[in-house]
Amino acid sequence: MPELYRILGLPADQDCQSVAEEYPLFVPRPFVNKMIKGNPNDPLLLQVLPRQEELLTVDGFSRDPLHELSNNTSCRVLKKYAGRALLLVSNDCGIHCRFCFRRFFPKPNGFRKNCFNKYPFGEKEPDKNCSDNFKTLLEPIRSDHTIEEVILSGGDPLLLDDSELERLLHYIVKISHVKRIRIHSRLPIILPNRLTPELIKILSCSFPLYVVLHVNHPNELSDDFWVRRDELRVPVILSQTVLLKGINDNQDVLFQLFDRLINHRIIPYYLHQLDRVHGAAHFEVSPDRGCRLMEQLRQRLPGYAVPRYVQEIPGMLSKQCQLKTLVPLGKIPSR
Ligand code: SF4
Repeated sequence: MPELYRILGLPADQDCQSVAEEYPLFVPRPFVNKMIKGNPNDPLLLQVLPRQEELLTVDGFSRDPLHELSNNTSCRVLKKYAGRALLLVSNDCGIHCRFCFRRFFPKPNGFRKNCFNKYPFGEKEPDKNCSDNFKTLLEPIRSDHTIEEVILSGGDPLLLDDSELERLLHYIVKISHVKRIRIHSRLPIILPNRLTPELIKILSCSFPLYVVLHVNHPNELSDDFWVRRDELRVPVILSQTVLLKGINDNQDVLFQLFDRLINHRIIPYYLHQLDRVHGAAHFEVSPDRGCRLMEQLRQRLPGYAVPRYVQEIPGMLSKQCQLKTLVPLGKIPSR
């Protein structure tokens, strides 16, 4: 953490050090390079910097807000929605977002400290626990013929090395009832170099494959990313964004983000209401404000550039769209 402050020319905040004990600071160097030096409120910095507010206990916020850990015997395959299975390929991630709803999931290798400048990508240790037997991992999907779509999530599935990912996709494609694959990742945004020619080749397979990129702020989109995105021949690339107080809860910021995405053939798919994970209450934007922002965006952008504003509620068979009823703050239903 002191090194991050030094790079950004900011005075070190000792108070934050203790907050990082349970969920350490972890951010790759290319993401740091996009932060504005000398600005303690930089929207990229705020997404990764441990803050004292994380220690507060706030009503309605818990360590497993979507009941994923408590509801599943095999926590690597989640069946939340009809016809789809979520495969948690890795519990690890290329960045530690402070608002991540899976921040309290067990980490097989343990978290590393003081490694925010670990780069290149290959220095990250592979998560052996999840990759050494894909056949076993996929058994709940193979045996359930209702599953037509496999969604690779995590952590970040693109943390697998190329050969592991290729092998995993190979096994999934061989399951006859699976018709499509979706990959959710933040890596191409935070580490554009991860989009190597080899990975681009793997992702450009003929099987229906959708990529959903997690991006929260226009400053995250670098020239380096655009060049590599243009090389990526995946027919459909979507984006998802978390609505975050002090980071992107502003119509101009969201306009810039979605406008830039569609200019590069990326369709804004979801704007997520924050999942109420312990330690992230200071990021929460009220649904009323979120709906107002959406209305403003609809007046400035073509329809296909305006994402669905959604909220995930444990036990519900689909995400709740803003056009229905977003759950009022403080009223999270029990299981
Ligand atoms: S990129 Fe996604 S999964 Fe990874 S820490 Fe951030 S929110 Fe969590």
